[in-house]
Amino acid sequence: MIRQREPIVALATPYGESAIGVLRLSGKGVLEKIKPFLKLKGAVKPRYAHLVTLVDEEGREIDEGILVFYPSPKSYTGEDMIELSLHGNPLILHRALELFLSAGIRLAEPGEFTRRAFLNGKMDLLQAEAVADLIGARTELAVRCALRQLRGELSDRIERIRSQLLELIAYVEADIEFSEQDIPTLSREEILKRLEDLIKDLEDLLATARVGNFLRKGLNLAIVGKPNVGKSSLFNALLGSQRAIVTDIPGTTRDFLQEQWNIGGIPINLVDTAGIRTTTDPVEQMGVQRSIEKLGSAHIVLLVVDGSKPLEEEDLSIYSMVKDKDHIVVLNKKDLGVCEDTAKAFPEFVMVSAKTGDGLEDLRKEILRRAGFYTAEGGSIYVSARHANLLQNSLSVIKLVYQQLREQDISPEILMLYLREAVHYLEEVIGTVTTEDVLDSIFSSFCIGK
Ligand code: GDP
Ligand code: ZN
Repeated sequence: MIRQREPIVALATPYGESAIGVLRLSGKGVLEKIKPFLKLKGAVKPRYAHLVTLVDEEGREIDEGILVFYPSPKSYTGEDMIELSLHGNPLILHRALELFLSAGIRLAEPGEFTRRAFLNGKMDLLQAEAVADLIGARTELAVRCALRQLRGELSDRIERIRSQLLELIAYVEADIEFSEQDIPTLSREEILKRLEDLIKDLEDLLATARVGNFLRKGLNLAIVGKPNVGKSSLFNALLGSQRAIVTDIPGTTRDFLQEQWNIGGIPINLVDTAGIRTTTDPVEQMGVQRSIEKLGSAHIVLLVVDGSKPLEEEDLSIYSMVKDKDHIVVLNKKDLGVCEDTAKAFPEFVMVSAKTGDGLEDLRKEILRRAGFYTAEGGSIYVSARHANLLQNSLSVIKLVYQQLREQDISPEILMLYLREAVHYLEEVIGTVTTEDVLDSIFSSFCIGK
């Protein structure tokens, strides 16, 4: 079951000056390959921290570090693995990499360690993807969700649906093969009931896809409105204060620790539409056009209006650009009073004051509601676009048989074919069946060394 492939090496920590830098190695006979460059007392014990001296071909010392050997199959990849912690000097790490490459060890491709872990059955595809999600997560909520996927929660849910389908197939199969005999079979009503349950389960999972996408890629938020209505102020008030919450831990880079802009744990990408305004100047019109195109990538648009003043032509012309998109009208400057006519002009709006912070919580809630994110506690399972695609295929097939079966009797042979197809899509999600192309596209998004 476990297959040991050719040895690979990669730097597992960021390249740059740091206290330690970790080289990761995996593959068949990897320990033997690097032994000529190691000076250590006694034999290498599994999972034991050895103090070693790294030397080059001529025995010159390069660095001193800690080596841990994880023999197959009890390692991340399932292969023989080594983690070598050296001092985090790029010169040292580079030299060590060179030595190992000269010994016939190849540089790992992005995600290759995790890919091998998947191929060796150490984790399914959903868990492998969760590793990348976890490393790339931009908010604590996204981290929690990735961790749940890594622990196999999404796999379990899909596995449950799959085994229910397989059970149904087994009944239908029995119906075909032993139709003369006294084998328990399901009535048409029972099959329909089971299909209904499956449809419900799949729909529930699919309903998480929108938020799943936002958690992984961020929600694109555009803030538009004519000059001086308070767009910048609102943006800072909505998100900027988060910068101040970050604690200072001595010796760490502040930027790095800072959670990205988020609302309720959903990462926010600000769409730059600074150029949106009305103009008759043809050159400026081009800039306006570009901004409008950018608006196309926004998931949600905030149209900011000065709610304390009567509307102007420009407010309305910007409104006409966004009103067909998912938008929220924000009447700002509530602290200066409300202009009745302005409020009456919009069927729906949220009233805020970027200055005092009044109404901002309502606005955050409204943004989350539009995003399809209802639960405040979060940390649930959210599928990705890849999963959603396949789940949708599975669902469509099941819905099709459900409809046909309700309207007329379909032969068990046909029923079985359909159900098998539905199972197949689920297996693609988990990775039981997969292609090189799919694996390439998934693992190429990983960082080197993972
Ligand atoms: P932008 O041009 O739309 O980005 O508007 P700014 O955020 O630069 O704000 C324009 C002016 O309005 C500034 O003087 C802000 O201090 C002021 N302003 C923004 N929001 C409010 C608000 O809620 N109440 C009051 N009283 N003034 C505000
Ligand atoms: Zn501004």
